[in-house]
Amino acid sequence: MKNIVYIFFLAFVFACGSGKDVSKNEENIDYAVKYANTITAKDLGNHLFTYASDEFEGRDTGTPGQKKAVNYLKDFYVGQGIGSPIAEGDYFQEIKNEWFAKNSRRGRNLKDSENVLAFIKGTDKPDEVIVISAHLDHVGVRNEKVYNGADDDGSGSVALLEIAEAFKMAADAGKGPKRSILFLHVTGEERGLLGSKFYTENPIFPLENTVCNLNIDMIGRVDQRNKENPNYVYLIGSDKLSMELHNLSEAINKKYTKIKLDYKYNDENDPNRFYYRSDHYNFAKHNIPIIFYFNGTHVDYHKDTDTPDKIYYELLQNRARLVFHTAWEVANREGRITADKLEEKKEETK
Ligand SMILES: [Zn+2]
Repeated sequence: MKNIVYIFFLAFVFACGSGKDVSKNEENIDYAVKYANTITAKDLGNHLFTYASDEFEGRDTGTPGQKKAVNYLKDFYVGQGIGSPIAEGDYFQEIKNEWFAKNSRRGRNLKDSENVLAFIKGTDKPDEVIVISAHLDHVGVRNEKVYNGADDDGSGSVALLEIAEAFKMAADAGKGPKRSILFLHVTGEERGLLGSKFYTENPIFPLENTVCNLNIDMIGRVDQRNKENPNYVYLIGSDKLSMELHNLSEAINKKYTKIKLDYKYNDENDPNRFYYRSDHYNFAKHNIPIIFYFNGTHVDYHKDTDTPDKIYYELLQNRARLVFHTAWEVANREGRITADKLEEKKEETK
């Protein structure tokens, strides 16, 4: 009797554990899709209706409302079990009032503020870091009206949370990322890209190990130009330093997200000069390849009417998934992407 049970037991173990079919099915799962699908319109909406609520008072740099925002972000990362690269439990990179005063005319009267950093360490190449960023601040309260900044840049802030959560779930299941990922919420953007300037002057990881920066600033709305076909996003800067990054981004979108990538504002001669107007520029000026994701301006841009009820959550979801897929590919591919455009230029000037 004992022996028979033993044999049955063994048979059972083999049936569960081996079987080529099982492993084949595993191989057929595209894990990038599996985890991208955890980024949902619903979750993004839940975050944004809090993050861009009146309670956060427009998140102006150094104000109590901005402190609520950074604590919201920190609490999320703690809850997810996503650590900080600064010190255990310390997610805030502090920026003193004196630094603001020294580094910007507009920053003279700013109180102390902080960037928020969260980190997932790479399994194979932990020293190579992909930075995904969004600015956490907005312009505060003016004439007793709260400027909620739901699109600018509540949309990018909550996208970052959902992207981080997706990577964390994948990591917990043993699915990468092979390179490390830094989730960087910068302060002081509206005061002159100050938080990203501070980070790139005081990086937690050496800039030469920073593979690229994917920066999100406003991805929840639709502009006039694209209102007939709203499943679009402007990409800016993707081909400026690295054709490899640009081509990868195009291929990933074709394969997964199928969003219309609009390069109108990527034109060097475009008078808006958006390439110079958000936080990625502080990385680009150090020759780090970047992509800036942006929906363009709209009637509520920098007004008290930029509220969470006006966000297109399905579009926000699709655009956040595009950033996730791009980051996934950069993080998990064999070779590190390079600033190949820069190398070309160096060759030409030799
Ligand atoms: Zn912005």
